[in-house]
Amino acid sequence: MRYVEEFRDPKAAKVLLAEIEKVTNEIGATKEKPVHIMEICGGHTHAIFRYGLDRLTPEGIEFIHGPGCPVCVLPMSRVDECVEIAELENVIFTTFGDAMRVPGTRKSLLQAKADGADIRMVYSPLDALELARRNPDREVVFFGLGFETTTPSTALSIQQAAREGLNNFSIFCNHITVPEPIKALLDDPHMVLDGFVGPGHVSMVIGVHPYDFIAEDYGKPLVVAGFEPLDLLQSVLMVLRQIRDGRAEIENQYARIVPEHGNPVSIAAMADVYQRRPSFEWRGLGEIDASGLRIRDQYKAFDAEEKFGIGYAAGPRNVQEPEGCECGAVMTGRIKPTACPQFGKGCTPEMPLGALMVSSEGACAAYWQYGGRRAVEAAE
Ligand code: SF4
Repeated sequence: MRYVEEFRDPKAAKVLLAEIEKVTNEIGATKEKPVHIMEICGGHTHAIFRYGLDRLTPEGIEFIHGPGCPVCVLPMSRVDECVEIAELENVIFTTFGDAMRVPGTRKSLLQAKADGADIRMVYSPLDALELARRNPDREVVFFGLGFETTTPSTALSIQQAAREGLNNFSIFCNHITVPEPIKALLDDPHMVLDGFVGPGHVSMVIGVHPYDFIAEDYGKPLVVAGFEPLDLLQSVLMVLRQIRDGRAEIENQYARIVPEHGNPVSIAAMADVYQRRPSFEWRGLGEIDASGLRIRDQYKAFDAEEKFGIGYAAGPRNVQEPEGCECGAVMTGRIKPTACPQFGKGCTPEMPLGALMVSSEGACAAYWQYGGRRAVEAAE
């Protein structure tokens, strides 16, 4: 299989691992005094655990799992608002499957569906648009969720709805951006971060330059990475070499997919449809300036917040996380998922307490799937 198997070659992996070990030793990193490398993207967290890279790399490297899972960073209040919209009469609420089981304070979307709300899983906002065309007497709402990877497709669906003059289609917009939370983490005096593995899919859209401030203002290296094991090993090696050499640059390991300046069509669609919110709430990180997107006034007929008077249109709402939940600490890399007292006890994929346990990009789900479950069962 082209572009897959050559990035899983065990012989090449051994060569990279030997070089990683050599550079780690040259830096002087040890288990007691490791280099801290944050993989921002939840897809990378899962790849690291799926391929056992955390165990193959030297103990002198500590992977810190970043806030790059859009379902996980969504505050509970926004999940509650999804449920409220979905339970309105005459609404068909559409969402990616990943968000169905995320707990809200009252219920998840899955529970709301079981209680009778018309909630449908879709693969794209264009599926929701088609539902709106076929159901002119119903209000069809799409749960717009995700980083810059999914934001353009939502923008295109709004542009298309405007062209067609559809008046029964809207987006509950929860799109967020990657550079701002990285800045928030770098500004946190408690965080120890020596370098970053940057998100491949997001960078495919925005390019590599939105990360320049990480090198220029904070003196930290970032390497945009692909998702196969050799991609990740090579990216880690590139970060380590920068640390060893005292360099701080933005490098692109995933150049076969990520253009330096991103995708101009996607960037133009996003600029046309969205503007920055003054701030947006992130689970575990709080309010972060200019980190969320809202639909421009020109397209406000397609903004579910305006249409239903909910969310930021209705003012702030303060929702407490469930007791004992350590999602925030995990999301900011302060603790590993297994250090959460609820891991495998009050929180499992079947009975989740936090989104990190159910999202396909959640760090707790990765730990559970690739070893954590066995560790909990062995301890019982
Ligand atoms: S185990 Fe559950 S409650 Fe604990 S951090 Fe993970 S998702 Fe949150």
